[in-house]
Amino acid sequence: MDERSTFEPSDTTLSSARRAVDKGLCPECFGRLFGRLGHGLSNPERAERLYRALSIELPPRTETCALCGGAFDRLPTWVERAVRAAEGFEWHRFTCGSRWDPERLAREEALWTEVGSEWGESARAAFNRELGKRLERHTGASGGPDRPDLVFLADLMVGRVEITVLPLFFRGRYRKLDRTLPQTRWPCRRCRGRGCDACGGSGKTYPTSVEELVAGPLLRATGAEGSRFHGMGREDIDARMLGRGRPFVLELLRPHLRSIALGAVLAELAREAVDRVEVEGFEPTDAPEVVRVKEAAPEKTYRVGIRGETSVAKVNEALTLAVGRAIAQRTPTRVAHRRSDRVRTRRIVAARVVDATEGRITLDLRTEAGTYVKEWVEGDGGRTEPSLSALVGVPLKVDFLDVLEIHDTEA
Ligand SMILES: [Zn+2]
Ligand SMILES: [Zn+2]
Repeated sequence: MDERSTFEPSDTTLSSARRAVDKGLCPECFGRLFGRLGHGLSNPERAERLYRALSIELPPRTETCALCGGAFDRLPTWVERAVRAAEGFEWHRFTCGSRWDPERLAREEALWTEVGSEWGESARAAFNRELGKRLERHTGASGGPDRPDLVFLADLMVGRVEITVLPLFFRGRYRKLDRTLPQTRWPCRRCRGRGCDACGGSGKTYPTSVEELVAGPLLRATGAEGSRFHGMGREDIDARMLGRGRPFVLELLRPHLRSIALGAVLAELAREAVDRVEVEGFEPTDAPEVVRVKEAAPEKTYRVGIRGETSVAKVNEALTLAVGRAIAQRTPTRVAHRRSDRVRTRRIVAARVVDATEGRITLDLRTEAGTYVKEWVEGDGGRTEPSLSALVGVPLKVDFLDVLEIHDTEA
């Protein structure tokens, strides 16, 4: 059965319609006063039926509508503007919004009261929906709130369409094999990135970073205008990141291309980062993954080489005392300039000696998230209590430190 036949205006609706006849509305705005009545009808069709039922001729469509100012008549222009605004970007999914003169929207609500209709739909919602439908037909892209590539905002007051290009997200795990590489781009302290004599004009303290090595090929492939690197924590510059690697999310800002040959891009990444960074499990993800990665507080396993006037037996004895016991760590001196000074309680979950050669003892340590391992070994001038140095009874020095595993998921 044709649903259209269900639109049979009641006497109340007809008297509301009669009151609206001389308000100077276009068929779209007239029909929309009763927009939530009946199914499967466009608003102009609703208008037509109401006029017919009232035995009045539809007004000619030359005058500017008192409500929408002709916005609905100009929809083809808005489609063109939207398409032009998105030129140079690849997009498959989109959402539409519009900015209206608030007085116009208030006038519309006043009109609902004036003619006595409870069935009106807002011009903005109808315009957004109609623009979306037309864009779908015109471009083959699909509209809706679900993970858009682009958001269009039609500004009816200035006659322009603004676009927001949503970022692309990838996740993966990285291994860092180089002890001179920071995780993220490190702007020169003296010039703050502008370039000076101290940094040789590069604006950077370190020539490159995990972030730059990973993002480089992806920035080129997508034509993105920038990137953000979200790591699940970070290791010291002189620490390697081994094992399964550290989870991260790479966010590519304002990408021009979204369909990329990921295999080829990853091959390029591997070539450019050889002996420095290796990436695994690299795949597309979405924005909530950034929060997951940033909020995770996994245990970690470290391999740490220590030196000092001690023996394996003494270290083993100290480890027995240390494991499972609370350690009070005041913010280390080396990070005190960027973190608030407070005392954190952490635990060494497990520890064992794995090697002892040439005066160096090597330990594997599993710790709670946020444990400062170097400070736990050396004591940081008494700021970590008790430290391994204190337990052994002589000063110890960290010779090297590597992260062997991030236990966000078990291997
Ligand atoms: Zn109108
Ligand atoms: Zn500089």
